[in-house]
Amino acid sequence: MLGARTFLHPVSFSAGIFDERIEGWQGAPQSLYSDHFVHDAPLQGPIGFKVEAAPLHPGMASILMGGHGQRLMTRFQQYPHTQMMLSLMRDGFHPESVGGKVRMHLDGSAVLDYPLTDYVLDGFRRSLLAMAEIQFAAGAKVVRPFHEQSDDYSTWAAAKAAIAAFDMKPLLTGAGSAHVMGGCGMASTEALGVVRPDGVHWQVDNLSVHDGSVFPTSIGANPQLSIYGMTNLLATQLVKRLNGKDVVLA
Ligand SMILES: Cc1cc2nc3c(=O)[nH]c(=O)nc-3n(C[C@H](O)[C@H](O)[C@H](O)COP(=O)(O)OP(=O)(O)OC[C@H]3O[C@@H](n4cnc5c(N)ncnc54)[C@H](O)[C@@H]3O)c2cc1C
Repeated sequence: MLGARTFLHPVSFSAGIFDERIEGWQGAPQSLYSDHFVHDAPLQGPIGFKVEAAPLHPGMASILMGGHGQRLMTRFQQYPHTQMMLSLMRDGFHPESVGGKVRMHLDGSAVLDYPLTDYVLDGFRRSLLAMAEIQFAAGAKVVRPFHEQSDDYSTWAAAKAAIAAFDMKPLLTGAGSAHVMGGCGMASTEALGVVRPDGVHWQVDNLSVHDGSVFPTSIGANPQLSIYGMTNLLATQLVKRLNGKDVVLA
C-alpha cells in the first residue's frame, strides 16, 4: 500500500477581470469558499469540487496568468483588476478516481504517476463553467478559464459555449495541486493501509508517520489545519508511550 492511493485535490482555475481594482495580493488570502458543488453521494455521482476565491500574490500570478510576450504583458497590466477562483476536486471517492502512485526511480528520487481520468476531467469542465458563471454574475468584464484552448471571453454565453467545446485532456487542461494526501494511509487493518490508527507503521514497530500522507482519502478542504491537529494528537500520544509522561504545553 505504500505510495498507493496518493491524492492531490486536482485544481482548476479561472481568472476574472473587473473594472474595479481587486488587488488579489492584499488582505486575508482565500477567505471565501463554497461547498455548493460538493454533493453528498460521492460514490455514485460526478466528482464534487470546492470553489474558493484564491489569493493572487506575484508568484502564483506569474504561474496562472498564462501566455508569454505581449499577451503576458497585457495580462500583467490587468493584474490589479484580476480576481482568481479555483476549484478543488474531491478525489479518491469513486472507482474512476483512484488517486496516484508514488514509485522510486533507480537513482532513489520519487516519481508520482497520477492519472487525470475522464471522470476527474469532467469535474474540471463543470468547475470551469461554474466559476465563469460566478465571475460574470459578480460583474467581471472578461473571464479567462485556465485551459490551453481558452481565450478571453466577455460574455457568459461565449464562455459557456467555449468551455463546452474544450478538449478535456491532460496537458491541455490547466491543472494544479498544493495538497498532497495519502500514500501512507491510516487503516484499522494491515491489509487496508500503511499505518495504524496511532500513526505507527503496521510492519515497522519503531516507525511513526505524522503528516498529510496518513489521510486515507483526500479531505475535500485545505488540509493544513487538519494536519497540524492530527500531528499534534499523534505526537502527544507517542511522547506518552515513549516516556510515560503527558506533554505539558507552556
Ligand atoms: C503553494 C501552496 C499553497 C498552499 N496553501 C494552503 C492553504 O492555503 N491552506 C492549507 O490548508 N494548505 C495549503 N497548502 C497545503 C499545505 O501546505 C500542506 O498540505 C502541508 O504543509 C503538508 O504538511 P505535511 O507535514 O504533510 O508535509 P510537508 O509540510 O511537505 O513536510 C514534509 C517535510 O519533509 C521534508 N522531507 C522531504 N523529504 C525528506 C527526506 N528524504 N528526508 C528528510 N526530510 C524530508 C521536507 O523538507 C518537509 O519539511 C499549500 C501548499 C502549497 C505548496
